[in-house]
Parts: sequence; structure tokens; C-alpha cells
Amino acid sequence: MNKLIDPFLRKINYLRISVTDHCNYRCFYCRDEFHHSRTKRSEVLNLEEITRIARIFSELGVSKIRLTGGEPLIRKNILSLVKMLGEIPGISDIPLSTNAHLLKQYAQELQNFGINRVNISIDSLQEKRFAEITRGGDLHKVIEGIDAAIVVGMNPIKLNMVVMQDINSDEIEAMLDFAIDREIDIRFIETMPIGADGIKALEQHVSQAHILARIEAHLQRKLEKIQLRETDGPAHNYQINNSKSRVGIISAVSDNFCATCNRVRLTAKGRLILCLGQEHSVSLRDAIRADKTDDEIKQIIISAIGKKPEKHEFNTNVKNIELRQMVEIGG
Ligand code: SAM
Repeated sequence: MNKLIDPFLRKINYLRISVTDHCNYRCFYCRDEFHHSRTKRSEVLNLEEITRIARIFSELGVSKIRLTGGEPLIRKNILSLVKMLGEIPGISDIPLSTNAHLLKQYAQELQNFGINRVNISIDSLQEKRFAEITRGGDLHKVIEGIDAAIVVGMNPIKLNMVVMQDINSDEIEAMLDFAIDREIDIRFIETMPIGADGIKALEQHVSQAHILARIEAHLQRKLEKIQLRETDGPAHNYQINNSKSRVGIISAVSDNFCATCNRVRLTAKGRLILCLGQEHSVSLRDAIRADKTDDEIKQIIISAIGKKPEKHEFNTNVKNIELRQMVEIGG
């Protein structure tokens, strides 16, 4: 039975775990230019601590755990962690968010350990532009990673593109074609105002309505159509006729999906974040390292869920999250 019901009667069954706040890319909207992770190894949860927290969450009713970061594939012994999490009774789904730089070498083993669902960030199909957005990323390696995930049979594979005016918004159609050609899914994401540079990136905001109009016009030219599907997460999802691909739009700014929010986030340093856009958080690392029992930790989690804010305020009040970096929270 799920014991994690928040004050707005939302059932929390999804935990996103950021396994590291380091990343091999430095996307400008995700991390401020001069932000460096100086996290010491001892500050970060070790694999046993992560697994213990995950097990406690599963006993409280969580069934889905997403691994994110930073870049999860640079975390040492990530495969051991995947295996340990996969052995927790009650955890039925372990998707991964990655920039895919290292995915080619990991795809098969990840799949062997039960990771079938993968979200891959890719904001441009132009090498130079891709390197600029990611401050040094290698597009070729990312495409190799995507193709490796397809070859080993991961499904669904979702591409995530953060759409920014005058930066990459001219590539909406090209990205759509790229996904359709590979029979994988794609989601277009509005920039969220997190971190000082994330807030600046709001100036390049492209609205959900504009993105949708561009997708529809493009698909109409290709004699396709999209059909509205029920929203199953923080995205409007559409099925493309005559295609295996689906399109989603994550419009956290134009819209908000908070009424159906079913998730909380654990940072690499063990802080439980109750809302992507609000400050509320509690340190589970401190609780674990103070030798609290499982029952005591459950009480801390239940009481934190009791303080989960109703909604983010990306569209009304961005100041209060200025000091937070997306690279630390994991998206
Ligand atoms: N390194 C992994 C990756 O690239 O997917 C996982 C971490 S990354 C923080 C997770 C997602 O957050 C990515 O899809 C990224 O594009 C998105 N993201 C980061 N900063 C964002 C922002 N300010 N607005 C919207 N999405 C953002």
C-alpha cells in the first residue's frame, strides 16, 4: 500500500535519484558558467546508502526509480548500483536519463541488468552548435549512443530537446525527422528557470503552442497527423500516425502539471527535494549517517511528503530557485 500521499492527495510512487552531480557536459542552461561541482566523495551517498533509501521508498509505495545526474554513466560502479536497485522487491521500473556520450559502451550491460527505458538529451544535430550548447560535447558519440540503445532493443527511447529561440529552435523539424527515421520518441522541453543561467535562458523561451504548431505543420507536409494521447507524466503526448514515434511537449512554463505530480527527487548528496521549483528539502544522508532505523527514516520521509508544495512557480516567481543548479537535481 502506498503510504506517500501528500496534502493535495497526490500519490508519490516515483523517485528520481541523481547519482552524481558531476557531468562530462556543461549545457549552459543546466549549469552556470562558473559553477563547478566540488563535492567530496564522502559527501555523496555511497551505493549501499542509495540502495537502502530506495528500498525504504519501495516499502512506502514507490515502484519507479529513475537514475539521473549530473551524468549517471560517469558514476563509478553504476552497473553495480543498477543491479542492487533491480533486486529490491517492489521496484518494477528503472529508467535512465543520460547525455549518451558513454552509452555505446554501456547499452548492452544496462539492458542485461534490466534498464530498458532511456531518455537521451540532444539539443542539436549540428556538430558545432551541439558543442557550443554542451560546452564541449561530441555529437558523433551521442548519435552512436542512441544507435547502440536501438540495436540492443531498449524501448522506449525518448530524445529530450530543450528548445531555445535563436539557439536551436530552427531544428524542431530536423529533430522530429531524426526520431521518426529511427522509430523512437522525442520530447520538446521548454527551458525552466533554474540556476542563474537557466533563468537567463528564459529569454530564449519558446512556447508549447509554437512548438506544437511547428510539429503539426511539418507532419502535415509529410501527410501525417498526430493524435492526442492521454498525458501520463509532465508532458502532452501525441502519437504520430503511420509511425512508431511519439512526440511529447514538456511545457513546465506555459503550463504546469503539478496537479498530477507523483515524484520526489534525491540528490547525490542525499537531499530529498520535494518540488523541482521550490526550496523545500530534507537531508536523508544526515538521517542515515546518524544511524536512524528504517522506521525512523520512513517517518522523516512521510513527514517531508506532508510538506510537498502544491506547485512550482516557474511562471510567476523565479527568484527563489536562483541558487539551485539543474545539474545537481537531475532534471
Ligand atoms: N546528464 C543527463 C542528461 O543529459 O539527460 C541527466 C541529467 S540532465 C540535468 C536531465 C535533463 O534536464 C536533460 O534532459 C536536460 O536537458 C534537462 N535540463 C537541464 N536544465 C534544464 C533547464 N534549465 N530547463 C529544462 N530542462 C533542463
